[in-house]
Amino acid sequence: MKRDPGMKMRRVIYLRRLSQLFVIALLIVVPAVTMNSFEWSPSRIVLGHLPPPTIRNISGDTWVFTIGGFRFVHPIAFMDGILSARVIYIPYLLGLIIPLFITIVLGRVFCSWLCPVGFILELNQRTNTLLKRMGLNHELRLPDIRYPLLSVMLLLSFILSTPVVSVIDPPHMLGRELMYLFTHHSVSLTGVSILSGIILFEGLSTSRAWCSSLCPSGGGLSILGAKRVLRIGMERQLCTRCGRCDERCPYNLEPMRLLEDEPGFDWIKCDNCGLCRDVCPTGAIKYMFRRR
Ligand code: SF4
Ligand code: SF4
Repeated sequence: MKRDPGMKMRRVIYLRRLSQLFVIALLIVVPAVTMNSFEWSPSRIVLGHLPPPTIRNISGDTWVFTIGGFRFVHPIAFMDGILSARVIYIPYLLGLIIPLFITIVLGRVFCSWLCPVGFILELNQRTNTLLKRMGLNHELRLPDIRYPLLSVMLLLSFILSTPVVSVIDPPHMLGRELMYLFTHHSVSLTGVSILSGIILFEGLSTSRAWCSSLCPSGGGLSILGAKRVLRIGMERQLCTRCGRCDERCPYNLEPMRLLEDEPGFDWIKCDNCGLCRDVCPTGAIKYMFRRR
């Protein structure tokens, strides 16, 4: 088998896992150590035993995260926020700059490198595969409705003056539930039902259905990152057409299409996860900095 002499065998998945685990650790540690659950107890505040709850210098989750006086704002959180509030809050606008820049240059890497629910759903693929082998899985072909869903939700945010996307965004929901867990020692039935419903559906039926067909905020990031400069690319002379990359892509994007002159590859949906790159035995698939 022909090999690229300069090929490095480092697998990008290890870095991705580190990044995903770091975010999950933050979602647990931040509410656990920066907020005092007693300070947050509503009954004690009502009785005048304590001052109103204070959040110290690190707070938030993947929707809006604050360190000291600086915020990082998810681009869809920003849109959802300004449409529902109908004002532009300048600290949020400043907090948008870095996440938006990353998305425009690197694509929707939030989904593959940072999203804690994406991490859980990736692991859940093993359950799906196991049930498939046992004949207990019923796969559905779902259309990609992320973009119309996002449009409708943003419209509703504007009409109802309530941030609708924020209510059902799973990573934000997970962050909220962990926050409630540590501050009020409780979780909401809605949040737990939606999150476990997605996990159950993907285990029993269609693997990665949420991220590839349903997630409105992931769809928004796909659009913002459509013209990104970091993308996977193919060195055609190294490819042996073994088909492993096609088998590995979680969204069935068929990276082997990159062998063709007019690939018909869904660049917008690809989240630069690098799984196809990792399994390629010849190093034909690489990350490349270039515009399409
Ligand atoms: S084509 Fe490759 S990088 Fe893109 S989503 Fe599929 S496996 Fe990930
Ligand atoms: S994994 Fe894909 S790109 Fe790599 S050699 Fe096989 S078919 Fe070609």
